Amino acid sequence: MKVLVTAGPTREAIDPVRFVSNRSSGKMGYAIAQAARDAGHTVRLISGPVALEPPADITLIRVISAADMLAAVEENLAWCDWLVMAAAVADWRPCHPAAHKLKKANGPPLIEWEPAPDILATIATRKKQTQLFCGFAAETKPCADEAIRKLREKNLDLLALNDVSQHDRGFDADTNALTIFSADGQRHHLPLASKSICAAQLIALLEKKDAKIK
Ligand code: C5P
Repeated sequence: MKVLVTAGPTREAIDPVRFVSNRSSGKMGYAIAQAARDAGHTVRLISGPVALEPPADITLIRVISAADMLAAVEENLAWCDWLVMAAAVADWRPCHPAAHKLKKANGPPLIEWEPAPDILATIATRKKQTQLFCGFAAETKPCADEAIRKLREKNLDLLALNDVSQHDRGFDADTNALTIFSADGQRHHLPLASKSICAAQLIALLEKKDAKIK
Protein backbone atom coordinates (compact mmCIF):
# COMPACT_ATOMS: atom_id res chain seq x y z
CA MET A 1 0.00 0.00 0.00
CA LYS A 2 0.94 3.65 -0.38
CA VAL A 3 0.82 5.20 3.06
CA LEU A 4 0.82 8.93 3.79
CA VAL A 5 1.62 9.78 7.40
CA THR A 6 1.72 13.17 9.10
CA ALA A 7 3.71 13.68 12.29
CA GLY A 8 4.80 16.26 14.81
CA PRO A 9 3.53 19.71 15.67
CA THR A 10 3.03 22.70 13.44
CA ARG A 11 4.41 26.17 14.16
CA GLU A 12 2.35 29.29 13.60
CA ALA A 13 4.30 32.50 13.27
CA ILE A 14 3.81 35.50 15.56
CA ASP A 15 6.72 37.38 14.01
CA PRO A 16 9.93 36.25 12.22
CA VAL A 17 11.47 34.93 15.46
CA ARG A 18 8.47 33.77 17.51
CA PHE A 19 5.80 31.15 17.03
CA VAL A 20 3.07 29.16 18.82
CA SER A 21 3.27 25.39 18.75
CA ASN A 22 2.50 22.37 20.95
CA ARG A 23 4.28 19.54 22.79
CA SER A 24 4.04 16.91 20.05
CA SER A 25 7.42 15.16 19.59
CA GLY A 26 6.49 13.37 16.36
CA LYS A 27 7.47 10.00 17.88
CA MET A 28 4.08 8.34 17.25
CA GLY A 29 3.87 9.47 13.62
CA TYR A 30 7.47 8.43 12.94
CA ALA A 31 6.79 5.04 14.57
CA ILE A 32 3.73 4.60 12.31
CA ALA A 33 5.77 5.49 9.22
CA GLN A 34 8.47 2.99 10.22
CA ALA A 35 5.95 0.24 11.09
CA ALA A 36 4.28 0.71 7.69
CA ARG A 37 7.66 0.53 5.94
CA ASP A 38 8.63 -2.57 7.96
CA ALA A 39 5.35 -4.21 6.88
CA GLY A 40 6.37 -3.67 3.25
CA HIS A 41 4.34 -0.56 2.43
CA THR A 42 5.60 2.53 0.57
CA VAL A 43 5.65 5.53 2.86
CA ARG A 44 5.65 9.29 2.53
CA LEU A 45 6.02 11.12 5.84
CA ILE A 46 4.95 14.75 6.16
CA SER A 47 6.65 16.07 9.26
CA GLY A 48 6.38 19.25 11.26
CA PRO A 49 9.54 20.45 13.07
CA VAL A 50 10.81 17.61 15.28
CA ALA A 51 14.15 16.47 16.71
CA LEU A 52 14.02 12.97 15.20
CA GLU A 53 16.29 11.27 12.68
CA PRO A 54 14.74 10.95 9.21
CA PRO A 55 13.72 7.28 8.87
CA ALA A 56 15.47 5.19 6.19
CA ASP A 57 13.62 4.23 3.00
CA ILE A 58 10.80 6.72 3.59
CA THR A 59 10.16 9.90 1.59
CA LEU A 60 10.31 12.74 4.11
CA ILE A 61 8.48 16.01 3.38
CA ARG A 62 9.28 18.72 5.89
CA VAL A 63 6.72 21.43 6.70
CA ILE A 64 6.40 24.17 9.30
CA SER A 65 2.85 25.51 9.54
CA ALA A 66 -0.67 24.07 9.31
CA ALA A 67 -1.03 25.80 5.92
CA ASP A 68 2.19 24.08 4.69
CA MET A 69 0.97 20.73 5.99
CA LEU A 70 -2.40 21.16 4.28
CA ALA A 71 -0.67 21.92 0.97
CA ALA A 72 1.60 18.85 1.34
CA VAL A 73 -1.33 16.57 2.22
CA GLU A 74 -3.35 17.88 -0.73
CA GLU A 75 -0.41 17.30 -3.05
CA ASN A 76 -0.02 13.67 -1.95
CA LEU A 77 -3.65 12.77 -1.34
CA ALA A 78 -4.42 11.18 -4.71
CA TRP A 79 -1.24 9.09 -4.40
CA CYS A 80 -2.08 7.38 -1.12
CA ASP A 81 -4.18 4.35 -0.19
CA TRP A 82 -4.06 5.24 3.51
CA LEU A 83 -3.71 8.58 5.25
CA VAL A 84 -2.70 8.53 8.91
CA MET A 85 -2.91 12.01 10.43
CA ALA A 86 -0.85 11.64 13.59
CA ALA A 87 0.30 15.28 13.47
CA ALA A 88 -0.81 17.69 16.18
CA VAL A 89 -1.89 20.45 13.83
CA ALA A 90 -2.46 23.89 15.34
CA ASP A 91 -6.08 24.79 15.96
CA TRP A 92 -5.47 28.54 15.91
CA ARG A 93 -2.92 30.89 14.42
CA PRO A 94 -2.20 34.62 14.63
CA CYS A 95 -4.23 36.49 11.97
CA HIS A 96 -1.46 38.90 11.10
CA PRO A 97 2.10 37.64 11.76
CA ALA A 98 4.37 40.70 12.04
CA ALA A 99 6.87 41.21 9.21
CA HIS A 100 9.50 42.44 11.70
CA LYS A 101 10.44 41.32 15.18
CA LEU A 102 8.05 42.78 17.75
CA LYS A 103 9.93 45.07 20.12
CA LYS A 104 10.00 44.08 23.77
CA ALA A 105 9.95 47.78 24.69
CA ASN A 106 6.47 48.06 23.15
CA GLY A 107 5.11 45.65 25.79
CA PRO A 108 3.22 42.36 25.40
CA PRO A 109 1.43 42.28 22.03
CA LEU A 110 -2.29 41.77 21.66
CA ILE A 111 -2.53 38.89 19.21
CA GLU A 112 -5.63 38.42 17.11
CA TRP A 113 -6.32 34.73 16.37
CA GLU A 114 -8.03 32.85 13.57
CA PRO A 115 -8.66 29.12 13.08
CA ALA A 116 -5.79 27.30 11.35
CA PRO A 117 -6.96 25.18 8.41
CA ASP A 118 -8.43 21.89 9.59
CA ILE A 119 -6.69 19.49 7.21
CA LEU A 120 -8.93 16.46 7.72
CA ALA A 121 -12.10 18.55 7.56
CA THR A 122 -10.86 20.21 4.35
CA ILE A 123 -10.19 16.92 2.56
CA ALA A 124 -13.04 14.89 4.12
CA THR A 125 -15.24 14.90 1.00
CA ARG A 126 -12.33 14.01 -1.30
CA LYS A 127 -11.82 10.54 0.17
CA LYS A 128 -12.13 7.80 -2.45
CA GLN A 129 -13.92 4.54 -1.64
CA THR A 130 -10.63 2.69 -1.90
CA GLN A 131 -8.87 4.99 0.59
CA LEU A 132 -8.67 4.72 4.37
CA PHE A 133 -8.22 7.76 6.61
CA CYS A 134 -7.11 7.51 10.23
CA GLY A 135 -7.04 10.45 12.63
CA PHE A 136 -5.65 10.93 16.12
CA ALA A 137 -7.27 12.85 18.96
CA ALA A 138 -4.96 14.04 21.73
CA GLU A 139 -7.06 14.76 24.82
CA THR A 140 -6.36 15.48 28.48
CA LYS A 141 -9.91 14.26 29.28
CA PRO A 142 -10.49 11.45 26.75
CA CYS A 143 -14.17 11.05 25.90
CA ALA A 144 -15.56 8.28 23.69
CA ASP A 145 -18.63 10.27 22.54
CA GLU A 146 -16.43 13.13 21.38
CA ALA A 147 -14.07 10.73 19.59
CA ILE A 148 -17.02 9.18 17.72
CA ARG A 149 -18.30 12.67 16.81
CA LYS A 150 -14.86 13.57 15.40
CA LEU A 151 -14.66 10.29 13.50
CA ARG A 152 -17.98 11.09 11.77
CA GLU A 153 -17.37 14.82 11.25
CA LYS A 154 -13.99 14.22 9.63
CA ASN A 155 -15.22 11.22 7.56
CA LEU A 156 -12.59 8.94 9.12
CA ASP A 157 -12.38 5.16 9.06
CA LEU A 158 -10.40 5.06 12.30
CA LEU A 159 -9.79 7.52 15.10
CA ALA A 160 -7.11 6.82 17.71
CA LEU A 161 -7.95 8.44 21.04
CA ASN A 162 -4.82 9.36 22.95
CA ASP A 163 -4.73 10.40 26.60
CA VAL A 164 -2.04 13.09 26.81
CA SER A 165 -2.52 13.86 30.51
CA GLN A 166 -0.15 11.11 31.73
CA HIS A 167 3.65 10.85 31.47
CA ASP A 168 3.75 7.30 30.06
CA ARG A 169 1.63 7.99 26.98
CA GLY A 170 0.89 10.67 24.38
CA PHE A 171 3.15 13.66 23.78
CA ASP A 172 6.87 12.97 23.95
CA ALA A 173 6.62 9.59 25.75
CA ASP A 174 8.29 6.51 24.22
CA THR A 175 5.23 4.44 25.16
CA ASN A 176 1.57 4.87 24.33
CA ALA A 177 -1.90 3.43 24.92
CA LEU A 178 -4.68 4.03 22.42
CA THR A 179 -8.36 3.38 22.02
CA ILE A 180 -9.13 3.10 18.34
CA PHE A 181 -12.69 3.83 17.22
CA SER A 182 -13.77 2.42 13.90
CA ALA A 183 -16.47 3.79 11.59
CA ASP A 184 -18.18 0.37 11.72
CA GLY A 185 -18.68 0.79 15.48
CA GLN A 186 -15.83 -1.47 16.61
CA ARG A 187 -13.45 -0.39 19.35
CA HIS A 188 -9.90 -1.64 19.83
CA HIS A 189 -7.91 -1.03 22.99
CA LEU A 190 -4.16 -1.00 22.48
CA PRO A 191 -2.67 -1.36 25.98
CA LEU A 192 0.44 0.49 27.15
CA ALA A 193 3.38 -0.52 24.97
CA SER A 194 6.24 1.06 23.05
CA LYS A 195 5.13 3.42 20.30
CA SER A 196 6.59 1.00 17.74
CA ILE A 197 4.36 -1.82 19.03
CA CYS A 198 1.27 0.47 19.02
CA ALA A 199 2.19 1.55 15.49
CA ALA A 200 2.54 -2.05 14.25
CA GLN A 201 -0.88 -2.85 15.74
CA LEU A 202 -2.42 0.15 14.01
CA ILE A 203 -0.90 -0.90 10.68
CA ALA A 204 -2.28 -4.44 11.17
CA LEU A 205 -5.72 -2.92 11.79
CA LEU A 206 -5.48 -0.84 8.61
CA GLU A 207 -4.47 -3.96 6.67
CA LYS A 208 -7.58 -5.77 7.97
CA LYS A 209 -9.82 -2.80 7.09
CA ASP A 210 -8.26 -2.55 3.66
CA ALA A 211 -8.99 -6.20 2.91
CA LYS A 212 -12.68 -5.46 3.65
CA ILE A 213 -13.01 -2.50 1.25
CA LYS A 214 -11.14 -4.03 -1.69
O1 C5P B 1 -7.52 18.58 16.93
P1 C5P B 1 -8.42 17.42 16.73
O2 C5P B 1 -8.68 16.65 18.00
O3 C5P B 1 -9.69 17.76 15.98
O4 C5P B 1 -7.58 16.41 15.81
C1 C5P B 1 -8.16 15.25 15.29
C2 C5P B 1 -7.48 14.92 14.00
O5 C5P B 1 -7.61 16.03 13.12
C3 C5P B 1 -6.01 14.60 14.07
O6 C5P B 1 -5.77 13.49 13.24
C4 C5P B 1 -5.31 15.84 13.53
O7 C5P B 1 -4.12 15.51 12.83
C5 C5P B 1 -6.36 16.40 12.60
N1 C5P B 1 -6.32 17.87 12.52
C6 C5P B 1 -6.22 18.45 11.27
N2 C5P B 1 -6.16 19.82 11.16
C7 C5P B 1 -6.23 20.59 12.28
C8 C5P B 1 -6.37 20.00 13.57
C9 C5P B 1 -6.40 18.63 13.64
O8 C5P B 1 -6.18 17.73 10.26
N3 C5P B 1 -6.15 21.91 12.16
